Amino acid sequence: MKAWVIAIMVLSAAALAQPAPFVGAAQQHHDELTALNPQDPQAYLLLGEVIADQAKTEADRRLATQLLCLAFEAARGKPAQHSVAGAAAMALTDLDGTEKTKRWLTAMARTVDPSRAEPQWLAKPAPASPDSSQYQIATVLGMVRSGDGAQARTLLAKREVHESLAAMDRLLASSGVTGGLSGLEREAAKWSCPTCGNKRVVRKQGVTPPEYRACTNCAGAPGPALSNEDLIGQLRLESLLLQGLQRSWAAQAATDRGEPLIDPDPVALCAAFQVDPAKFYWREGQWCATPDCSTPAPPPPLKAPEPKKPTVTPAPKDSAAQ
Ligand SMILES: [Zn+2]
Repeated sequence: MKAWVIAIMVLSAAALAQPAPFVGAAQQHHDELTALNPQDPQAYLLLGEVIADQAKTEADRRLATQLLCLAFEAARGKPAQHSVAGAAAMALTDLDGTEKTKRWLTAMARTVDPSRAEPQWLAKPAPASPDSSQYQIATVLGMVRSGDGAQARTLLAKREVHESLAAMDRLLASSGVTGGLSGLEREAAKWSCPTCGNKRVVRKQGVTPPEYRACTNCAGAPGPALSNEDLIGQLRLESLLLQGLQRSWAAQAATDRGEPLIDPDPVALCAAFQVDPAKFYWREGQWCATPDCSTPAPPPPLKAPEPKKPTVTPAPKDSAAQ
């Protein structure tokens, strides 16, 4: 074989053995990435947020995801850093678009960081019972939706229900209840159907034997007209009020088409994003388990395995005894 052919082959092999070149955010933030160490989880969080903000490519977003996962992993075991773990989980919700993952990450943030517990009006000292405010609020939403205004008004007249609804006015408005509390009151006053009294049908005039047709006012569906989005928003809010985790199969089916529930187990976060929770150190474009990358990486490098060293034989007795 000619010398130049061999030279090209050696050069190509050398090129293959090099780590992949890094570009984009990895290149721009090279020094900050290299300075990271798991004693300082907040540094992973801050850099992850910066890169997530500036991300232009899938590789940048992937790097931001890895940083946020590692921030979470480094912080979750340290009581003083629980807020960092919670913030990392919440920052991940901006990188993953699916509603289900967002809910899971939010639950995760609350699990690791008690200060992210739900606001007081949603505090759940006991499961929702027919006497609890959460239950009654969920019932009001359902009553108004079905046009059962009289029952809704009875519940709305209760002081604790009214106060709770007033406290969550903005949440109502963003959960498909147009106009928040005042919108609820308006709809409760408007229904039941003045034409059919919620019977859904009206009798045709002058026809014997009697015949019925759909009510001309409510078209057989009393209550405010809702878009699918608003309806789902309301069902989601009710599900949250009634203990959050879609324990009612009907609410779950309506909100996420019955997907299995995922448990917010902090140990599972890194795995969910395919991040190795043992590799905290960024070295020239790859994550390592030790600061000097000394731990052998799972796939062996392009090197022949070293021959096994012969076992050391004990020195002869006479030389040791001298
Ligand atoms: Zn009607």
